[in-house]
Amino acid sequence: MTNFQGERLVAAQGCVAGMDMAVREAMRYGSERKAFGRPVMKFQVWKHKMAEHLTAIEAARRLCYFATDRFNKFPMGATREITMAKLFAGDLAQKVIYDCQQLYGGFGYVTEYPISRAWTDIRLITIGGGTSEIMKEILVKLEGM
Ligand SMILES: Cc1cc2nc3c(=O)[nH]c(=O)nc-3n(C[C@H](O)[C@H](O)[C@H](O)COP(=O)(O)OP(=O)(O)OC[C@H]3O[C@@H](n4cnc5c(N)ncnc54)[C@H](O)[C@@H]3O)c2cc1C
Repeated sequence: MTNFQGERLVAAQGCVAGMDMAVREAMRYGSERKAFGRPVMKFQVWKHKMAEHLTAIEAARRLCYFATDRFNKFPMGATREITMAKLFAGDLAQKVIYDCQQLYGGFGYVTEYPISRAWTDIRLITIGGGTSEIMKEILVKLEGM
């Protein structure tokens, strides 16, 4: 159970890095790919979606920094923060990667595109190292609910 803390923290941190990369790559692709005569990223719906995701990713990053700081100072006393970081970053990543893949249209489904692989990989985060449901169970116990 102690070893799980490091694994879950790395999973949360990896999520943040992966989401950030996926959003930036999707924005790059969307500024090149044209639909109805203009780049996909020129449609306001995609600009707003990416603005929301960048904001949420920043929140996840700060939670990860906080959890990492707690873990460095109190390796045995950071369970609450690490559990929250994995839960938040892992669940968020499902939405972010889904939207990034959607922006690619049909190419998002093609396995040669990294975003297709990212969708497969990101599904692990809410399952491996303890599922999101179990993260919530841990928090329920820690909060004495
Ligand atoms: C690619 C990969 C690599 C892995 N590597 C390792 C490894 O190196 N070492 C290792 O030990 N394990 C490893 N695992 C296993 C992983 O930790 C488990 O798959 C994970 O913890 C979920 O357990 P389970 O598969 O037995 O699901 P189950 O326990 O069968 O759960 C099934 C579903 O029920 C839900 N559920 C269970 N209990 C509750 C509850 N109390 N309340 C609400 N919902 C609940 C779960 O959240 C899940 O959605 C790996 C898994 C994968 C996919």
